[in-house]
Amino acid sequence: MQRIAILGATGSIGRSTLDVVSRHPDRFAVTALTAHRQTGDLLDLARRHHPRYLVLADPAGAAELAASVRAAHLDCEVLAGRAAVARVAAAPEVDTVMAAIVGAAGLESSLAAARAGKKILLANKEALVMAGPIFMDAVATHGAELLPIDSEHNAVFQCLPPHRRGRLAASGVRRVLLTGSGGPFRARARADLAQVTPDEACAHPTWSMGRKISVDSATMMNKALEIIEAHWLFGVPPASIEVVVHPQSVVHSMVEYADGSVIAQLGHPDMRTPIAQALAYPERIDAGVPALDLARIGTLTFEPPDFERFPALALAYRVLEVGGTAPALFNAANEIAVAAFLAGRLAFLQISAVIETVLTRQQALPLLGIDDILEADRAARALAERAVATIGARAA
Ligand code: NAD
Ligand code: MG
Repeated sequence: MQRIAILGATGSIGRSTLDVVSRHPDRFAVTALTAHRQTGDLLDLARRHHPRYLVLADPAGAAELAASVRAAHLDCEVLAGRAAVARVAAAPEVDTVMAAIVGAAGLESSLAAARAGKKILLANKEALVMAGPIFMDAVATHGAELLPIDSEHNAVFQCLPPHRRGRLAASGVRRVLLTGSGGPFRARARADLAQVTPDEACAHPTWSMGRKISVDSATMMNKALEIIEAHWLFGVPPASIEVVVHPQSVVHSMVEYADGSVIAQLGHPDMRTPIAQALAYPERIDAGVPALDLARIGTLTFEPPDFERFPALALAYRVLEVGGTAPALFNAANEIAVAAFLAGRLAFLQISAVIETVLTRQQALPLLGIDDILEADRAARALAERAVATIGARAA
C-alpha cells in the first residue's frame, strides 16, 4: 500500500490525483490532504477520502475546520500553518508526496519531502525553477525519488531510456523538444492582447488548470518555467532544450537522439495520465483516460514559437545563463505580475514589462543556500509590487 500526502489537494492537480487514487483503493491510501484556505472543500475531500491528517496552510480557518471534522465524526487530525504542511510532507507514515501547491508557496514543503527521502511527484515546477541545484542536491543526498508530473517533463521522462533517466549527458540525447499548445492567444496579434481580460486569458484551448498556470500559458511564461524545469530535472544544457508549438496538445514532448531518432509520448491532454504514470511507476494503471483516437483527431500540427509576441521564452534562456538567484527573481516577479493581472491591477501585456523591470533592477547573486533564494524571492516581490504600481497606474 502506497501512503500518499497530497499537498494542494483542493486544486486542479490535487483533484486529478484523488480521482486516480480512488480508482485503486487496493494500491493507494490517502494519508494527508492540504489546502491554503479552502476549509469547505477540504472537509468534503476528507469525507470522501478519509485521510489521517488535514492541513490548512493558513491557520485562520483551522478551528472552524476542526469543529466541522468533529461534527462529521471524521477520524482525522487537523493541523495548521506552513510548517505543518512541510511536516506532513516529511512524516514517517507518508511514502509518496504529490507536490501540487502552486507557486513559491510550495517550495518549503517540496524541499521537505526531498530531504525526507520521499517519492516525490512534482507538479510544483516553481520550486524547481527557484531552487534547482539545491532541490536536485537534496533529492540525491537523501535518496528521494523524483517523478515529474508536468505533462511535458513526464513525457520526456518516459522517452528516456530507463537506465538513463536523470543522467542525460551520457545517453546520446541531442535535444529535448518541449511542446506547448501556444495558449489561448497563439494566433492573436500582439496589439490585440492589450485589452484581454483574466477570464479570456484563463480560457485555455486544450487544458483545464488553475488560474495562475493558465495565465502563464497565455504569456508562454509556463513554457519559460518549463525550460528551466527541464534543465534541472534532466541535467540538459539550455541550448539543447527547444520549444515547439503544437496546438492539439497530443504530443506531450519529445527526445531526439544522436542517431536522428525522435521518441515522443502521446495522449489526451488529461493530467491523470502523467499522475497515474508517476503513482504506479514502473507499472501502469488505469487513469480513467479514454483511448486516443488518432484517426478521429486526423491532423497534428507543429510550428515555431514566436519570441517577439511571447518575450518570456527568451528570458528563460537569459536567466539560466545568468544563473544563481536569477530564476528565483524571474519566478517571483511573474507571480506578483500574474496576481496583479488577475486582480485587474495590470494589463496583460504589462506582465512581461514588470518581469523585465525586476530582472534589470535586481542583481542576481550566487546561490549558496536556501536563504539566498528566499531573500531573492522577497526582494523581487517588493520590486515587482512597486513596478505594478507604476506600470499599472500609467496604463489606467
Ligand atoms: P490550483 O490553483 O488549482 O491549486 C493550487 C493548490 O495549492 C490549492 O489546493 C491551494 O489551496 C494550494 N495553495 C495555494 N496557495 C497556497 C499557499 N500559499 N500555501 C499552501 N497551499 C496553497 O493550481 P494547479 O493548477 O493545480 O497547479 C498546481 C501546481 O501544478 C502548479 O505549480 C502548476 O504549475 C503545476 N501544474 C499544473 C498543471 C495543471 O494541469 N493544473 C499542469 C502542470 C503543472
Ligand atoms: Mg506543462
